[in-house]
Amino acid sequence: MKYNPLGNTGLEVSAIGLGCEHLDGAEQKAVDSVIGAALESGVNIMDVFMPGEDIRAKIATALGGKRKDVYLQGHIGSCDVNQQYDISRDLPTVKRYFEALLRNFGYIDLGMMFFIDSEDDYKGVFETGFADYVLSLKEKGDIRHIGFSSHNPKTAIKAINTGLPEMMMFSINPVFDIFPSERYVLADTNEGIDVSDFTQLDPIRAQLYKLCESKQIGITVMKTLGAGKFLSAEHSPFDKPLTPNQCIHYALTRPAVASVLLGAKSPEEIKLDAEYFNATDEEKDYTKAIASMKDFRGSCVYCNHCLPCPSEIDIAAVNKYLDIARLDTDNVPPSIRSHYAALGHHGGECISCGSCESRCPFGVPIIENMKTACEAFGE
Ligand code: SF4
Ligand code: SF4
Repeated sequence: MKYNPLGNTGLEVSAIGLGCEHLDGAEQKAVDSVIGAALESGVNIMDVFMPGEDIRAKIATALGGKRKDVYLQGHIGSCDVNQQYDISRDLPTVKRYFEALLRNFGYIDLGMMFFIDSEDDYKGVFETGFADYVLSLKEKGDIRHIGFSSHNPKTAIKAINTGLPEMMMFSINPVFDIFPSERYVLADTNEGIDVSDFTQLDPIRAQLYKLCESKQIGITVMKTLGAGKFLSAEHSPFDKPLTPNQCIHYALTRPAVASVLLGAKSPEEIKLDAEYFNATDEEKDYTKAIASMKDFRGSCVYCNHCLPCPSEIDIAAVNKYLDIARLDTDNVPPSIRSHYAALGHHGGECISCGSCESRCPFGVPIIENMKTACEAFGE
């Protein structure tokens, strides 16, 4: 394992960290084995954004006496009051969830202001008592450093310029860097893409990276593998799927990046991630693959940041089953049909309120997808 300074926090974090989201719903034994494998391979930073008491408690149990050997990212404003992942800026709710997290782990190394993407998110954090609460947590020692998570470079820049955050968790991969909302490279040809120096990186993202470098705001990375899509021949926006080594290398070589946080469901996946350190330069090189990129915006990465849904639809799950169904509409696997049927709520229950679309950082046409899923699966 290699360790990098996390901006000017004074922390040295493992270049590969663990995003614990995939452990949600797992048995204690499985959580123990993944956390154990991560610790064994030298991982010392873990993200616990999940609001559920059950998974938080299982992670705390799995860490046991090793709690002090890891830096935990805990998110302030992550909740599940409607039994779905949600963002809250309501202080009593925010406090209730974060204080429960503190009871699980004693203290939180990196107190993350959760999901600052939109102007409303910004206002909800910096123009209310939210930021003061975060500062008070630091003053009491309940959190050791203040961070935030975001997918939006413009808002992230504004948040950093307040002077409050010391670090940031941001979604980074070659697709998001080159095809952001304000893209300016060609979508359907490679003409004009200079892969040798990435001068066509989205200018706002470039500005964000520069700001992080200059202010020493360390970055931890989410969405490194595009929810696994870049690795799949069917879903990759490239002519050939990328490899995990290429994706990890891309993220780790961005300015200010200290650690990529990868999800894992098994100890084997942790070992596979650690293989990055044995890869050759050729195996890590992503430049040629990127030259073949097709348009990716509008494609779901199954992050569920669009929740909550008033119809309680698990939007990521519906999109996931729909994506699989779309691969061969005449032969949808029965297992996918039954997984879809087992969901508590279905695409057909969408009332087209549009609140999810305004929250989706990736421009997914969710309302249209819900209708298509209803047509494909009959409910
Ligand atoms: S629709 Fe958007 S926010 Fe929702 S799961 Fe997909 S990518 Fe994430
Ligand atoms: S548009 Fe449909 S899927 Fe989206 S939040 Fe509203 S009801 Fe839910």
